[in-house]
Amino acid sequence: CATTATSIVKTVCPFCGVGCGINLKVDARGNLVGVEPQQSHPISRGKLCEKGWSTAYAIRPDNRITEPLKRIKDRFYPISWDQALSEISEAIRDIQAESGNDAMGVISSARATNEDNYAAQKFARAVLNTNNIDHCARICHSPTVAGLKQTLGSGAMTNSTKDIFETELIVVIGADPTENHSVLGGQIFDARQRGVKLVVIDPRVTRLAKVADIHLQLKPGSNIALINAMLHVIIEQKLCDTSFIHQRCEGFEGLAASVETITPESVENSTGVSARQIRAVAELYGQAKTAMILYGMGITQFVSGTQNVIALSNLALVCGQIGRPGTGINPLRGQNNVQGACDMGCLPNVYPGYQAVTDATAQRKFAQGWGQPIALQPGLTSLGMTKATLAGAFRGLIIFGEDPVVTDPDQNHVRAAMKKMELLVVAELTMTETARLADYILPAASFAEKEGTFTNCERRVQHIAPALSPPGIAMGDWQWLKALAEKLGSQALSWSCSEAVFDEMASLTPSYQGMSYSHLQQAHGLQWPCNQSAPEGTAILHQTTFPIGKARLIPVHQIAVDEPPDDQYPLILTTNRLHFHYGCGSMTRKSPLLERETPAGLLFINPQDARNLLIHRYSPVGVRSRRGYIETRAMITDDVPPGLVAMPYHFREAPSNQLTNTAQDPVTKMPELKACAVSVEPL
Ligand code: SF4
Repeated sequence: CATTATSIVKTVCPFCGVGCGINLKVDARGNLVGVEPQQSHPISRGKLCEKGWSTAYAIRPDNRITEPLKRIKDRFYPISWDQALSEISEAIRDIQAESGNDAMGVISSARATNEDNYAAQKFARAVLNTNNIDHCARICHSPTVAGLKQTLGSGAMTNSTKDIFETELIVVIGADPTENHSVLGGQIFDARQRGVKLVVIDPRVTRLAKVADIHLQLKPGSNIALINAMLHVIIEQKLCDTSFIHQRCEGFEGLAASVETITPESVENSTGVSARQIRAVAELYGQAKTAMILYGMGITQFVSGTQNVIALSNLALVCGQIGRPGTGINPLRGQNNVQGACDMGCLPNVYPGYQAVTDATAQRKFAQGWGQPIALQPGLTSLGMTKATLAGAFRGLIIFGEDPVVTDPDQNHVRAAMKKMELLVVAELTMTETARLADYILPAASFAEKEGTFTNCERRVQHIAPALSPPGIAMGDWQWLKALAEKLGSQALSWSCSEAVFDEMASLTPSYQGMSYSHLQQAHGLQWPCNQSAPEGTAILHQTTFPIGKARLIPVHQIAVDEPPDDQYPLILTTNRLHFHYGCGSMTRKSPLLERETPAGLLFINPQDARNLLIHRYSPVGVRSRRGYIETRAMITDDVPPGLVAMPYHFREAPSNQLTNTAQDPVTKMPELKACAVSVEPL
């Protein structure tokens, strides 16, 4: 467990869920002097994108928070760890004594290691005795977890990224991998060059859409209508895999009946896609020997998010495109460890390994495993904590590695909740908009300064070694959580090193049970499930059976977006991400190279709408929704169709989340970030 500085230290990119392998070069004095891709890495294959190459800037000591800070009125003052943790623990005790255990909660981080996330949920459940634990999957892939768990029994990518080179057809739906998962996006280009067919389904003309065989430019929020119409064609033309359906699925008759009248012609208006194109894509998918679906937040970030995921699952199952190389249903996870944070149980309804908090066997297992009573009722989601704060029912929050003021919908509402919080503790690398509102800011260690594991979008658990010492007196997240637990009189987190955290987690998490640090270090990690029956991990899920026995085909019906355009707000706003930035920008915006490439905020608008509104190239514009108003500049482009405008959410100067809608998917509480009504005016 000891930190050893070497000239080359193997680690994993701290940004997106692709999980590219990085070597950090450290000089004899312990300074980071270079970053290079790992040539033999099975995913990145010797490549990094701009963000990966720029990781050194993201953790530069001069940008960092190096000591605990306490707010006194409007200023922060440095204090010792002991004072910070003593005062925080006293405040927690007071809140819980007055208002009960559920008045406190924790938001953990998809940028932190599995060990940090495991510690966070154990801190919430076993120290604070609440299931109020959540993280940013709530606003990216919670519908994936819920949807695929219902249909397949497991809410994760079914195949591996290498399958891109082993398939006949790639369908990218609601995802923009060249911007957001750039190395993978480049691999899709490569596969295309080698003759793999490509279909892109997206309201925007993404870079992949420009090279696709077919681009279906559907209206935002019409995914289910489109997929059901494809299913109609596939069933009508007998392109189903009947033996797969018969042997491995249940519910086909109900599904077939539900799409019987959903002809491509009947959804032309609602989807904006011609019946001819829908038929062409249905036939291409139904006839392909191997076809893999890759999807992103253009599927999940709707009030219909869980239903959208179920629709995609229906499509793949009916065509038998699951359980073989080059097939599958493959969510592209956003942050580098969002899969891991979910696996670790940083969700209010499941313990590690997706074991339900309402399940008596799981409750007994964790209470016994941890040697103490634990919270038994599902907790609040992150947005639920915000809402409960404003209602006066929630009083204290510990957050690390997340910036909800920038990333959550309806920013004014989130900011008001954070200000109202009686105890707000934020552990961070650098100052963020949420940290500015904290009572205490704790200095966190970055990925390069700690040992642990990350789990990427293809379920690959990779070990990272520490290359540097944390700046100042910064600490790893599980270490300060342990120290805070001790201040609260609990020894629940009394591990001596990261490996001990991992071993405890693996002993309680069936899909990680066969993993150990030494096993992970032998290669470039292992894909879960890794256990007695799959000691070297699992590249493709569901090859012979599903965790729930037979897969479920579940009819789903089109659900309209919550806030359609009207006379007052005539345009639909969708949020997107940009190649050079990541999330709230707390790391990428510290890089002068990345910051140079993209101005701070843009509104993408079609030339026709720009003409009608008298908006010129790069001219200032005001954008208004029912929740807020922001100013930015116009990027006039055919990449968005008339009626749709798009904005990235990376920039605090033009925070698109002041405008977005908090209407939620009823199953997962995912907010509808991909569609809200706005008006735009020239300034
Ligand atoms: Fe990092 Fe993702 Fe870029 Fe790979 S593709 S270098 S993981 S940001």
